Amino acid sequence: MNICVFCGSASGNDPIYAEAAKAFGIQMAKEGHTLVYGGGNVGLMGIVADAVLEHGGKVIGVIPDFLMRREVAHLGLTTLEVVDTMHLRKQRMAELSNAFVALPGGWGTLDELAEILTWRQLGLVTQPIGILNVKDFFSPLLDQMRKMVEEGFLKLGNLELLVVEKSPAELVGRFSSLV
Ligand code: AMP
Repeated sequence: MNICVFCGSASGNDPIYAEAAKAFGIQMAKEGHTLVYGGGNVGLMGIVADAVLEHGGKVIGVIPDFLMRREVAHLGLTTLEVVDTMHLRKQRMAELSNAFVALPGGWGTLDELAEILTWRQLGLVTQPIGILNVKDFFSPLLDQMRKMVEEGFLKLGNLELLVVEKSPAELVGRFSSLV
């Protein structure tokens, strides 16, 4: 299956994040999954892509033209699709993928995760969505999501759509069983 990964264009301050991104990529390749991602060669993005490629897996990058021109594209991918805008990138990544995962990251990762959860809530996509909660990185965000449920802004059933795992192997395994 094709798993879309949203993650940081930085690597974070603790090496645990790079190790988790690498482990996630290795696990994907071992189970025969293809990586779909933003096509960058920087941060956790580059680490997860390299891990999949080094272990014999395929990687499809989808990158907007302006980032390609800033020379942040990974030029060793199986396929690199260049699109016109950030919006088209998200749409194309969704079309190509059977599941979505967020690893730690910043605004870009949060945007991609929030958008795909919104699309799923509205029934525009049906694929499973998960987060890798390494070092409890996403726990404050999960607390915020619970607050949204408590305060009546988010349905519990929509919160429960999100698959949360701490270990790369378990998260990939959960997807393999869902699809
Ligand atoms: P961030 O979490 O803010 O580092 O943004 C990372 C996410 O946004 C990735 O999943 C990418 O799809 C996109 N993105 C942000 N910066 C870049 C970049 N320099 N190269 C490629 N994609 C990027």
